[in-house]
Amino acid sequence: MSLFDGALVLFSGGQDSTVCLAWAIERFARVETIGFAYGQRHAVELEVRPRIRDGLSEMSPHWRERLGDDHVVRIDALAEISETALTREVAIEVAESGLPTTFVPGRNLVFFSFAAALAYRRGIKHLVAGMCETDFSGYPDCRDDTIKAMQVALTLGMDRRFVIHTPLMWIDKAATWLLARELGGQTLLDLILEETVSCYEGDRSQRHGWGYGCGICPSCQLRAQGYEKFLTA
Ligand code: ZN
Repeated sequence: MSLFDGALVLFSGGQDSTVCLAWAIERFARVETIGFAYGQRHAVELEVRPRIRDGLSEMSPHWRERLGDDHVVRIDALAEISETALTREVAIEVAESGLPTTFVPGRNLVFFSFAAALAYRRGIKHLVAGMCETDFSGYPDCRDDTIKAMQVALTLGMDRRFVIHTPLMWIDKAATWLLARELGGQTLLDLILEETVSCYEGDRSQRHGWGYGCGICPSCQLRAQGYEKFLTA
């Protein structure tokens, strides 16, 4: 991996992708971000993205230099064709398939395809994303094998070498907080607590020790438990 290679970070405005963005800025000379508007219920995450990017830029002159353009891509069709709790008023629970109703089928495959198409045009080889197999909901498109297969498919299908990095794949939420502290100290922790949205409901009306969220949805529970474990580690 060379510092001179560029990276494109799939940046949603959530805790995980914010840590991935900090991780990427620390490693690559030029880092761009891509976000997707797909009719998600938690669209508030799109509003916090610029504030998080500004916050990271202010943390160090190197980071400011390296953080490049942001791209927001509209994929409205994803909500049109999927019946899911992330895009409709459907209860968040485990469905008959054994997967949570928050699962948007193929979402990450679609995201990677668009990200790689943009990276191709921008001359960027590295894609960075926050998928995690360790303590998440068992989404099949977050699994390591899926991501590796996607890297091969994109590399073959575009005849251009792509490398997908998933720095959070094998660590839990507590370790993600630790990684954030390693990368940016308390300033980065504070930025994540204040600005990132992980809540499926996009709730920013309630501030807990671990940040904003409804406190009830699976994503909030995961974030709360991870933060508690991080504090006591
Ligand atoms: Zn929530």
